[in-house]
Amino acid sequence: MIKTGDMEFAPRMISPENTSEDNDIEVTLRPQTLHEYIGQDKVKENLAIYIKAAKLRGEPLDHVLLYGPPGLGKTTLSAIIAHELGVNLRITTGPAIEKPGDLVSLLTSLSDNDVLFIDEIHRLSRAVEEILYPALEDRVIDIIIGKGPSARSIRMDLKPFTLIGATTRAGQLSAPLRDRFGVIQRLELYSKEQLTDIVRRSAMILGIPCTLDGAAEVAGRARGTPRIANRLLKRVRDFADVMGNGEINQQIASVALSKLEIDELGLDSLDRRMLEMIIRGYGGGPVGLETLASAIGEEAVTIEDVCEPFLMQLGFLGRTPRGRCATKLAYEHLGFKFQDDNGQLAL
Ligand code: ADP
Repeated sequence: MIKTGDMEFAPRMISPENTSEDNDIEVTLRPQTLHEYIGQDKVKENLAIYIKAAKLRGEPLDHVLLYGPPGLGKTTLSAIIAHELGVNLRITTGPAIEKPGDLVSLLTSLSDNDVLFIDEIHRLSRAVEEILYPALEDRVIDIIIGKGPSARSIRMDLKPFTLIGATTRAGQLSAPLRDRFGVIQRLELYSKEQLTDIVRRSAMILGIPCTLDGAAEVAGRARGTPRIANRLLKRVRDFADVMGNGEINQQIASVALSKLEIDELGLDSLDRRMLEMIIRGYGGGPVGLETLASAIGEEAVTIEDVCEPFLMQLGFLGRTPRGRCATKLAYEHLGFKFQDDNGQLAL
């Protein structure tokens, strides 16, 4: 439970953000090689070629930008890249690099061809970003020594390295930073079949007996996200242990997930609250993001990063310049009658 003021709430079961509870299993479940990494075939194909070429030439891999919603495997992929290249990986995040000096010590501590992974790279400060430009382009950093009129700048060479930046919001990256990445790859939400494979693999590693239809049931409600699939698998296991003989099958998975208020398409109570607010409160939309966020008491970034990509993929939500709209499919799923533009009932 998280406690904030006098409100208590459980962390959202299908939030794709990493929680401390995920950390223990994520380490065990992380695929180590491109071959083990399920899905994202185009990204994998391209990276396999770039990695091979870099190794053939004995050069570092070009800088890589990975973007897409949280929990899709950006950190995992960067560890795989370092592993396949046979180099060390340093992991940090944009907000953790507070001062230019923090970045300088990170960069100068790298060995030849190492990979530096910066998660949430869109949150780097401007001052830190400016150190990064010459580091990425010419492998040098300019350090200012001293203060005032006696200050002088000295240039230091860096060892060859690869930066892998990850972000959920490629649009927030400044153009000069974005332009310095030679490889830019978008990770897509996973299909149900791919997530079924991920759930089966995770169940095997964790020693949980799981039937194919049980894995498919978990996968179908994991909103295209491996992190959520793994988390649901853990929760469903609890139900299987207590209500059954420990094996996850379709029936146990379905009962468990319904008790967790995750419906058969993977919508949770927040998704439903948001769609219901658009439909009941704003006649189906359009309604602006900020208005919607305050109407349901949720952060606009959560709606934008977490709810919207999935609801748009399902075809439940439209984004127009004037705001968000619920589609006919959303009305139908939530059991509302849909009226078209002419006021005709379509259900
Ligand atoms: P991100 O960095 O995009 O938030 P992570 O790389 O931390 O996501 O992935 C979350 C978890 O999902 C990982 O621990 C891993 O177990 C699992 N995972 C992600 N992508 C895959 C994949 N393609 N195949 C198998 N498991 C995956």
